[in-house]
Amino acid sequence: MHDTVRTGNGLEIHANLAAKKSNRQISSNGYEVDVPELLAQVIPTPMSDRPRMDPETAKMEIARRHREIMEILGLDLTDDSLSETPERVAKMYVDEIFGGLREENFPKITVVENKMSYDEMLVEIDITFNSTCEHHFLPILGRAHVAYICKGWVLGLSKFNRVVQYFAKRPQVQERATVQIAQALSKILRTDDVAVVIDAVHTCVRTRGVQDESSLTRTSKLSGAFQSNPALRAEFYASIPGPSQLKVV
Ligand SMILES: [Zn+2]
Repeated sequence: MHDTVRTGNGLEIHANLAAKKSNRQISSNGYEVDVPELLAQVIPTPMSDRPRMDPETAKMEIARRHREIMEILGLDLTDDSLSETPERVAKMYVDEIFGGLREENFPKITVVENKMSYDEMLVEIDITFNSTCEHHFLPILGRAHVAYICKGWVLGLSKFNRVVQYFAKRPQVQERATVQIAQALSKILRTDDVAVVIDAVHTCVRTRGVQDESSLTRTSKLSGAFQSNPALRAEFYASIPGPSQLKVV
């Protein structure tokens, strides 16, 4: 699927980049997900119309501004312990915790034909992720439980984690993250029968404001048969950890 083609002038191109259409058949046994087309079908994270900086420029600009924030707070930026914090924060934003704002960071996903004739529910529980509350820029620590009913296509189990983690690496509200993950999985797997439940601790609730020590937030997005079939819905909820079993942190 990632055959390298050597051209006459010595350039190597990936054969899959040469093909134009998404979710296109790349063989009779599967297809590769077209990321721009997929993300266009998922509810967006609010983004401005400003041109995007390349990652290195973005890091420089964020570091400069973060340095100013620290100075306004009265911190001594010449102190050994603090002097490189602006660059650390900038790198963390761009390369790590907000990496999901760049579509080039979406995982490479190849979906393969279901040759096993598997036609029951598949549930993956306790997918851990870290995200960031967009209201306070503080961590959200969560677990996602995802399920789908195979409609002829399957993907490697680790890809469920990768999809969850991609959308988690954005400034988020839990509700939007839940819907984005469900919509993406539905498009990738070409089925409406998808369920996503997220349990999360919001450190902005724990460490500031009401300073609640124990609350967790559960969100869900059920579609297709998971929404319309009460028995399936019940089976799904019976398969995932219940509120008393939550172990987020
Ligand atoms: Zn918050």
